[in-house]
Amino acid sequence: MNDANIPEAAGPEALGESRREGECREVADGVYFLAGFGNTTLIVGSDGVAVVDPGLFANGPRVVAELRQLTDLPVRYVIYTHGHFDHAFGTPALLEDAEARGDQPPDIVGHVNVARRFARYAKTSGHLATTYDMQFASWGPGGGDLVRRARYCPPTIEYEDRLVLDGLGNRTIECRHGLGETDDHTWVWVPESKVIVGGDFIVSSLPNAGTPFRVQRFVLEWAEALEEMASVEPAVVISGHGGVFTKSSSDMLMTTARALRYLDAEVVRRLNEGQWQEQILHEVKLPDDLVDHRFLQPPYGCTEFVVRDIMRRYMGWYDGNPSMLFPSRKSEIAGELVQLVGSARPIVDRAAVLGRSSDVSDLQLALHLLDVVLENHGDEAHRASALKAEILEARAKHERSFVAHNILLSAAALERDNAAAGGGSTNTSGVDRC
Ligand SMILES: [Zn+2]
Repeated sequence: MNDANIPEAAGPEALGESRREGECREVADGVYFLAGFGNTTLIVGSDGVAVVDPGLFANGPRVVAELRQLTDLPVRYVIYTHGHFDHAFGTPALLEDAEARGDQPPDIVGHVNVARRFARYAKTSGHLATTYDMQFASWGPGGGDLVRRARYCPPTIEYEDRLVLDGLGNRTIECRHGLGETDDHTWVWVPESKVIVGGDFIVSSLPNAGTPFRVQRFVLEWAEALEEMASVEPAVVISGHGGVFTKSSSDMLMTTARALRYLDAEVVRRLNEGQWQEQILHEVKLPDDLVDHRFLQPPYGCTEFVVRDIMRRYMGWYDGNPSMLFPSRKSEIAGELVQLVGSARPIVDRAAVLGRSSDVSDLQLALHLLDVVLENHGDEAHRASALKAEILEARAKHERSFVAHNILLSAAALERDNAAAGGGSTNTSGVDRC
């Protein structure tokens, strides 16, 4: 295939494109890209097929249908780039296809930490389901059902650093481990076609290297993995979310690595100078030549969230203020403040003024004022809840990171319910409300 014929969808717009689910298209000889919520890649050799990331559980039948239009060969491998729900859960349909055809079941290939991830998911499923409901709220209800109804198919072939698979006949597949979005991440190198299947190392956006609900992500190692990918000089790089990179592959890999390295170094420099979380969080920004770069737009990642994960990597939770070592309940502090002011009414009035501002920092301040009133559970709580819902919605309009956007909007909806119930809580998780 001629690379010039491959349409490159490299910017944030490619994220929307892949969510809409595109048709299967050949991006290199025998390598097919199937866009989806999490992208799938089909690698067709002379003796069999490898499916990289079958995607969501509901995506599995679509992968089988597309595959069977392409070839009658058996599936030898199902490779997980990592164990997230949008990548490694479409496997059952492939197993059923193999059984119906009378084929040997495919080997499931993943890093050794994938099975450990699945065990953690099962152990914390209630918590995960709640957070998925919030994270994907704007795309409709039931995000948490990914967890509640999960059917786990762990790897049958595990590896730690590198693994070469030679069961496809005329082409080899190399799995390489790196730390990045997860600790179980694989990127796939198909040397004969010079194709990288990058999983979520590549998200057509600022990397999602820190997200409010999730466990530690690995910013510096992420950069190292991208640099290693660039060193093999790929002709095609397939993203986990978004599009396919061709001519801009090297630029995308190295620019993204540079941004991640910058953020890691800047946080570490400030920590070594004795700065604490609040200052670092408010002051660390990408440099001018990177902040508006087309490869680093925020639909997926969010600079502040990346900075938080870098801090979490290098320090404990102490924030520099000994008052916070054994903090009082927020409701007790709020009670004292409201009593000193004399009533909650002027606090809500001031929040209403700030809430009409077009400046996001005013909206943020308004939220903090309302939290004082809501924590106090007083007679202005109903008005405070209704106002908080409005301001959360206004605040969401300022956020381009979809995770931040969805948290703010789902919290606004819950706050409206809270207002209808009389108000009086800052807990907008939808559980354990008091
Ligand atoms: Zn993903």
